Amino acid sequence: MKLILQQLVSEIVELRHHLHAHPELAHQEYETAALVSKTLKKFGYEVTEGIGGTGVSAVLDSGKPGKTVALRADMDALPIHEETDLPYRSTRDGKMHACGHDGHTATLLAAAGALMQCKDQFQGKIKFIFQPAEETGTGAAAMIEDGVLENPKVDAIFGYHNSTKSDFGVFKTKMDCLFASQDVFTVVIHGKGGHAAYPHLTVDPIYIGTMIIQALQGIVSRCSAPVEPVVLSVTQFHAGNTHNVIPSQATFQGTLRAITPANRAMLKEKLTKITTNIATSFGATVTINFSYSFPPTFNHPQETQLTYDVAKKVLGEDHVTLLTDPGMASEDFSYYLEKIPGSYFWMGIGPKEYHPHRPRYEFNDAIIPIAAEMLAQVAISYLNKN
Ligand SMILES: [Zn+2]
Ligand SMILES: [Zn+2]
Repeated sequence: MKLILQQLVSEIVELRHHLHAHPELAHQEYETAALVSKTLKKFGYEVTEGIGGTGVSAVLDSGKPGKTVALRADMDALPIHEETDLPYRSTRDGKMHACGHDGHTATLLAAAGALMQCKDQFQGKIKFIFQPAEETGTGAAAMIEDGVLENPKVDAIFGYHNSTKSDFGVFKTKMDCLFASQDVFTVVIHGKGGHAAYPHLTVDPIYIGTMIIQALQGIVSRCSAPVEPVVLSVTQFHAGNTHNVIPSQATFQGTLRAITPANRAMLKEKLTKITTNIATSFGATVTINFSYSFPPTFNHPQETQLTYDVAKKVLGEDHVTLLTDPGMASEDFSYYLEKIPGSYFWMGIGPKEYHPHRPRYEFNDAIIPIAAEMLAQVAISYLNKN
């Protein structure tokens, strides 16, 4: 396997650089999907395109009866303007592979290429899933809706994300909750505008908005058990455009994170109640909208143990860590794990100064053959154990 991957790696790294120079945002991954398809076909795969929009999948059948395991990579870039000096930096203004999904796509292609030559090492089938729109939390759900976990029915799924915080080649995962849920809230306060010298004749949405934002932090400190992490961050507040007019409207937006479904529901319910009641008590009305929703990512115990055991073999005992705390970021791999067993893990590419979602973030190509071997061996191990 190592040898096959070494032979593939220069071609795959070149492909990764091409993807990096030509980033595409969520649900617009047309050129990326076409390149993925072309590469899979070159490796000898039959390819299914257009799943959940721009998603791509391919199946490797060992010819022996057994289960079906899926490996997943995400393909979308971010609306960030790249500031690196890389020779293959983004050629598209305001678009950048700043989360390393180009690297994940390249890794899964390397695994697909290598596994095609190792069909005699396992039974059952391996399905490769190239997913659009992870960053918006809509790609996994769209592919599932479009039947990616059927025909053949997928029994378990695995995937990885690069980590700039971990040393190079270090595997990290966690039993149960690896990532928090996310819900973005957008609140519009509808008041009554007027002359700033006569506030009593207005319903001031700025004053009301600041009262609400203060009160919302009480959800974290007073409504949630101290040992269960929750996050409520307000990240935007917009209102007014001059010094002597009270505006009629104010808008604020932010994010909610939780690691249990119960706390996730509690955050949304309390936010709605507190916002509505404060606004109403001052004579305003509100509209509240939730979007960019991801459930918490819950790793399944048996499948997580399997990745942990494979990592010890592939990377060595000193390169393997079981985390005790969940990350408060989120990942739409969670949608697969709501449907079927599986596990998600980190692969270290650092430590690096610039983390994902930053304009100077850089993926590390050297992880591609290592992460590809991890994915391939996880799939082989799952199929041969079940
Ligand atoms: Zn990201
Ligand atoms: Zn990502």
